[in-house]
Amino acid sequence: MDYQALAQLLFPDVTMTPEELEARFPARQLPEGAVVTRMAPSPTGFVHLGNLVQGLTSERMAHQSGGVLFLRVEDTDAKREVPGAVEVLIETLKHYGISFDEGATMDGDNGIYGPYRQRQRADIYHVYAKKLVSEGKAYPCFCTEEELAAMREQQEANKENTGYYGKYAIWRDRSLEEIQAQLDAGNPWVLRFRSTGSIENQFKFDDLVKGKLTITENDVDHVLLKSDGIPTYHFAHAVDDHLMRTTHVVRGDEWLSTLPFHIQLFQALGFKLPKYVHIGPLMKMDGTSKRKLSKRKDPELALTYYKAEGFPVAAVYEYIMTMLNSNFEDWRRANPDAPVDSFKFSAKKLNPAGSLFDYAKLVDVSKNVISRMDAGQVYTLLTQWAQEFDPAFGKLLADNPDYASRILAIGRGGKKPRKDLAVWKDAKPYMGFFYDEYLEEPQFDPAFSPSVVADVLNRFLDSFDISDDANTWFDKVKAITTDIGFTTDMKAFKADPAAFPGTVADVSTFIRLAVTGKTNSPDLYTVMQILGKDRTVARIRAALSRLN
Ligand code: GLU
Repeated sequence: MDYQALAQLLFPDVTMTPEELEARFPARQLPEGAVVTRMAPSPTGFVHLGNLVQGLTSERMAHQSGGVLFLRVEDTDAKREVPGAVEVLIETLKHYGISFDEGATMDGDNGIYGPYRQRQRADIYHVYAKKLVSEGKAYPCFCTEEELAAMREQQEANKENTGYYGKYAIWRDRSLEEIQAQLDAGNPWVLRFRSTGSIENQFKFDDLVKGKLTITENDVDHVLLKSDGIPTYHFAHAVDDHLMRTTHVVRGDEWLSTLPFHIQLFQALGFKLPKYVHIGPLMKMDGTSKRKLSKRKDPELALTYYKAEGFPVAAVYEYIMTMLNSNFEDWRRANPDAPVDSFKFSAKKLNPAGSLFDYAKLVDVSKNVISRMDAGQVYTLLTQWAQEFDPAFGKLLADNPDYASRILAIGRGGKKPRKDLAVWKDAKPYMGFFYDEYLEEPQFDPAFSPSVVADVLNRFLDSFDISDDANTWFDKVKAITTDIGFTTDMKAFKADPAAFPGTVADVSTFIRLAVTGKTNSPDLYTVMQILGKDRTVARIRAALSRLN
C-alpha cells in the first residue's frame, strides 16, 4: 500500500506540515519544574463541582510552580452542545476565581497557542491526521452504523470484547482502489488509528494521583476523525496538549480506561507524553454507603446551586481545599488570616479513590469564612447576591449602605466572632427585622396576660433613653422587672419556678418581641442603637396598640 498516496487521496487540501506547526507553537520558556496545564471542559451548559475540583487542582499546580494555566473549550461534540454554554462556562469559572493566563475568554482568545476552541482547529488536526496516514498509522473506515451494531451484537453473542479490533477491523488493510471507489461513491468515512497493541501485553505507568498502575495495551482501532472531519476527544487531546505545550494533564478518572490508547497515540505522533493527574470522583454518603454525586439526584453537584444559595466563592474554595488536602484545616486554624493562596497545595494528597463531599462541613467552613470577613466585605457580597436573587431585599441593602453595614458589623471583629450566616440566604431571616418591610408581628407567650406585657412595654417606653449606655439600659430593664413583681434572680427562679410570676428574661423577651418581632436576636441594646430612637419607640407603640 502506498500510504503517501492514501494520505494525498484523503487530505488533498492539507499542505501545512507538522514542522510548520512545531515552529508556530514553540516550546514555552519557563523555569525548570513549571507546570503547564489546562482546563478543557466541554460546553454542555452544566458546570459542576467536579469541574471546580479539577480547575482548582490545575490552577494550584500551575501557579504554585510558576507555570501556566489555560482554558481550552472542547466543543467537538456538536450533538451535546447547548447554545450559550461556552459563555456560562467562562463566566462560572471566572466567578469562582479561577484565573487563566491564556485561552478562551468572553471576548475571544488570549494567547499565542490558540485557537483555544477545538472546532476552530480542524485544519491543525488534519495535518497530523495526514501524517499518520502517510506513515501507515491511520486509515479510513467506511463501516455504516448498522454494520458496527451488527458487529457488536456478534461480539456480545460470542462473549468477546466489543470494539473495532483484530479480525473485526475490516477496513484496516483495504487497497487504495477499494478506498477510492468508496470515496468516488461519496460514502462517509471516519479515520481510525491502526493499533499495534495487544491485550496480552501489560506495562507500568505512574499517575500523580493514582500512583503505580499496571496498564494493558490497547488493541482497538479507535476513531480519530469523525465523518465530519472533527476529531474525537482522544485525537484532539494528543494534538492540542502537545502543541499547547501542556506538561500535566489533570482530568477526571473516567478517562483512565482510554489512557492506554492515549499513550499509544502520543507515541505514534512522536510527541512527548505529559504527566497525568487522574482525579477520582466526588462521592457522598447515602445512608451508610458511599456513592458518586449524580447530576440527576444531587442538586449540589451544579455550581449554580452554590451561587443561588449564596455560598461565598471563598467558602466554596476553602471547602474544596479542605476536601482535597487533609492538612488544609490544620493550616487554616494555625493561619486564620493568611491568604488562601499561601497554603501549599499538593496534588499528591488527593485521595485516589475520590473525595467525600460533606454538605454539613461546607456549611461549617462557610460560617467560619463569613465570620472572618469585615462588615464592608459582607455588605458588598451580600448586596451583590441579593440584587440578583432577592431584588427587593437587595434594594433595601443598596439604598442605605451605612445602616446595613452597622447591622452586619454586630459581633464581628473580636476573637470569637458571631457565626449567624453560612450563606447569604440566611441574611434576611437573621437581619430582616431591622427593616420595617420584614418585621413580623410579635407573638407574645399566652402564658402571660396581655396587660402584663403592656405594662412592661409602657414602663420601658417611659424610661427609655437612646443615649443610655448598655449598663444603664439594662439596669432599667431590671428595675421594671422588680417593679412588676418578677425576679432578676435566675438561680432562685430555677430552684422554684412556681414562686415567681416571671423573670427578667421574660421581661427582656417582651421588649425584644415588640422591637424585633422575634424571640431571638443579636444583643437587644445594640439592636436598639442601630434602629435608633424613633424606630424603636414606634415599634413598641405598634406592639402596644395590638395588645389593647
Ligand atoms: N473535555 C474533557 C472533559 O470535559 C476534557 C478532559 C481533559 O481534561 O482532558 O472531560
